[in-house]
Amino acid sequence: MQQLESFPLFEEKDHRFIMLGWEEKEEGMAVQTNQYVVTSGKEIVLLDPGGAHLFPRVLANVAELVDLKSIRHIFYSHQDPDVSSGITLWLSMAEKATVHISELWVRFLPHFGVYDERRIAPIPDRGETLTLSGGVRLVMVPSHFLHSTGCFSLYDPRAKILFTGDIGAALFPKGKRYPVVTDFEAHLPYMEGFHRRYMASNAACRSWVRSVRSLDIETIAPQHGAVIQGRENVGKFLSWFEGIRCGTDIIDQIYGR
Ligand code: FE
Repeated sequence: MQQLESFPLFEEKDHRFIMLGWEEKEEGMAVQTNQYVVTSGKEIVLLDPGGAHLFPRVLANVAELVDLKSIRHIFYSHQDPDVSSGITLWLSMAEKATVHISELWVRFLPHFGVYDERRIAPIPDRGETLTLSGGVRLVMVPSHFLHSTGCFSLYDPRAKILFTGDIGAALFPKGKRYPVVTDFEAHLPYMEGFHRRYMASNAACRSWVRSVRSLDIETIAPQHGAVIQGRENVGKFLSWFEGIRCGTDIIDQIYGR
């Protein structure tokens, strides 16, 4: 078993961007996931708080840090089960929270048991911003087809952190998991296989990089794998990501032809 305490990736006065800790057993088939919490003024935002599988652990971590009543927003990068299958549990615990998810996935939510449309804020394809009580404007940046049809990253301009969902994900060999990348080149092999097969195409990768290049990013925080810190590593990551061949680029290879 590997363990990690929750820790802030950014902390300044009334604004924090926290990576939640883990205590997962590594055996089993569930993919490892990261969860993040943004606190701004009196408002709390959860980023991809995860599936039913991890709910008790994530709830305990969140409750240790904040008052559940202060959770105002739950952001889902996309619809996958490891991201959002805990949605009904979170909506009942965080009574004042609104869920933000691509408008393409809203009609699928009743299949998770969500029927109250008033608690869902569909994100339009072009993205939108979310202004928090502390004055911070979080930006939902489209990341369509990376890997989901309707998919978003979330940029925090105060913390200069880009939460990227599955973009930048890494899968570690057993016992080799770490929370923060220290050697970018050594980290690359853990990211390559995942991106090659889960991301839709190089055209989608390039489109997203074109959007995020204009942002001032110090940290990339993915939903699986490790956090990429520092402008040099962020730059290396974006260059690598815009050059990868994946999905439909290698469709014959995937079919085994
Ligand atoms: Fe996913």
